[in-house]
Amino acid sequence: MLKVQNVTFQYDTKEVLKNISLKLNPGEQLSIIGESGSGKSTLLKIIYGLYHLEKGKLFWGEKRLLGPNYNLVPGEEFIKYVAQDYDLMPYITVEENVGKYLSNFYPRKKSKRIAELLELVGLTAYAKTKPTDLSGGQQQRVAIAKALAQQPKLLLLDEPFSNIDNFKKNSLRRELFSYLKSQNISCITATHDNMDSLAYADKTMVLKEGKIICLDDPKLLYKNPKNKYVASLFGEVNELLEKHIVPNSTSNKKIVCYPHQLQLSQNGYLTVRVKNSYFQGSHYLIESVLKSKTVFFNHNNAIEPGKEVHLEANLKS
Ligand code: ADP
Ligand code: MG
Repeated sequence: MLKVQNVTFQYDTKEVLKNISLKLNPGEQLSIIGESGSGKSTLLKIIYGLYHLEKGKLFWGEKRLLGPNYNLVPGEEFIKYVAQDYDLMPYITVEENVGKYLSNFYPRKKSKRIAELLELVGLTAYAKTKPTDLSGGQQQRVAIAKALAQQPKLLLLDEPFSNIDNFKKNSLRRELFSYLKSQNISCITATHDNMDSLAYADKTMVLKEGKIICLDDPKLLYKNPKNKYVASLFGEVNELLEKHIVPNSTSNKKIVCYPHQLQLSQNGYLTVRVKNSYFQGSHYLIESVLKSKTVFFNHNNAIEPGKEVHLEANLKS
């Protein structure tokens, strides 16, 4: 089990992580979400053991992880970190990259392992290709296979699917996360993509300016977002005043609601003017204006710009 205890960290004078604590069981998946600069990559690098900690402690089970001042080679053996740059050797092939740290003692076992991992990341056809001839997304997949080759107990992924097109991303994500579960490998993913959290994480940490805003089951965070910042990490979101959506209310209490929680209704209490309709596949996202405030809601069809419509809020949906 990984334990991070009260970690506070600064590169120079400004603290970029403040009093971070977390626990992660074997096989558990944690996603870290937060705006750019909130400290996600720094936290992964600290857990990997790249930076010396003045304040706070790391443990793997009972064992204290001491960091770069105590390890000859920075980075713990049993942890693999796939950074935002992929750290591949450009002039050897994909399969040689993946197998770089595997023993040559059992060559057949080694090639079987490499083939398995290339299949997992969907790159079997590129085994003999050099990384320089691959796209950014393909290189990202080689880096993931290379990290897994060494059978880590904890995998740290920094924006792992950022360069991979949607078509490949969905299948890769499914395969990878079920592989990690089957092997009981813990994983921490720093991500911008809400799907990484909602569908695959057991726990989600929301970071803002180096602080944990919340750490919980992603379904609970989505359903009861603490504030607009948390909700907005899961997609488009509205912040309305209670008096805007509840008849007879005069309260200025802020209410966070998602576009799917506002429906067009003749008797709707909230009146907005439509600005734009964006096709989303299964529905349209409608951008509208309430006074000068933008309000997003979902609808089955596009709506003519300039039209005034009434909306009803259903916060339970
Ligand atoms: P994220 O991954 O969430 O975008 P980072 O962990 O990369 O955030 O950065 C957190 C903060 O630390 C930012 O303000 C960033 O500018 C700063 N920072 C990151 N790396 C360094 C570094 N090597 N030296 C100094 N400041 C850094
Ligand atoms: Mg980052």
